[in-house]
Amino acid sequence: QARSSSRPYDLYQPQQEMDPDAERKLVRKLENALEVGELQLHYQPKVHAKYHSLMGAEALLRWHTSDKLIGPNKFIQIAERHEVITHITWFAIKSAVARLARWPEELSIAVNVAPNLLLNDQILSVVHDALDIYGVTPGRLTIEVTERVMIDDPQVMLQQLGRLRKLGVKISLDDFGTGFSSLSYFRDLPVDEIKIDKSFVSMMVESEKDLAIVKAVIGLAHNFSMRVVAEGVETMDIARQLSDLGCDVLQGYVFDKPLPVEVFELDYGLARDA
Ligand code: C2E
Ligand code: CA
Ligand code: CA
Ligand code: CA
Repeated sequence: QARSSSRPYDLYQPQQEMDPDAERKLVRKLENALEVGELQLHYQPKVHAKYHSLMGAEALLRWHTSDKLIGPNKFIQIAERHEVITHITWFAIKSAVARLARWPEELSIAVNVAPNLLLNDQILSVVHDALDIYGVTPGRLTIEVTERVMIDDPQVMLQQLGRLRKLGVKISLDDFGTGFSSLSYFRDLPVDEIKIDKSFVSMMVESEKDLAIVKAVIGLAHNFSMRVVAEGVETMDIARQLSDLGCDVLQGYVFDKPLPVEVFELDYGLARDA
């Protein structure tokens, strides 16, 4: 596992440490937050690389306490060690699908799903039932799975991704390049989309090496009929370069930060009369 330390910009984060009491307290607070509606999804646009037209959004969790807004990096890793992540994830899937039902058919939403939940059989019925109840076309929902999970139990992971895909939802391999990426992923993984990690995207203008990696990933992914999304696009210069390289979809601060859903809908003309 020593490999991760050899790259200064690696996003492979060490486990968050916390004393058990504080951790239990945080988990209880999270459970409560979910119950009282303090956990919400913010939406960040994913745009067409050439035309910058809206293609959909990534749903990102935010915790609105009475006095501040807390980002997922402060609690998601802790949550993932406890049962509460199950409730949080089912909530995220259901609210994203409910949102899709109100948006135009051509828009999609991506939801992040933690490793251990992907292996939870319940996910199949949660996804299926949500799509069914809201009458949403399955292909409009994308499940983002971080690449790091593939190492745990590749066989089971493969099966489970295959089952999800059978429901018609899209699978996206998140944070590509930060974990233990292997070329065999391109051959073996049933995924529709590769998300190039923002560490490569932000470095590609300064570093020929990162540029070469981005180019190679785009080329390979296209050979396997996968769509390529670049995340962390912060300048128009990078956006243009990615588009020239054939990248399909862009996401990043240069277009918008993750926005509260009402703001997103207003800004993109999706708001409906109440
Ligand atoms: P991620 O899935 O890699 O999401 C992308 C992160 O990059 C988000 O951070 C987003 O706000 C940020 N970002 C977007 N554009 C830019 C940019 O141009 N520059 C930079 N520097 N950053 C950008 P966020 O919202 O803080 O989320 C952090 C992580 O928390 C996510 O990383 C994801 O792994 C996790 N997460 C968020 N929501 C959920 C959720 O509902 N479930 C689970 N299991 N994990 C979640
Ligand atoms: Ca993601
Ligand atoms: Ca990512
Ligand atoms: Ca990430």
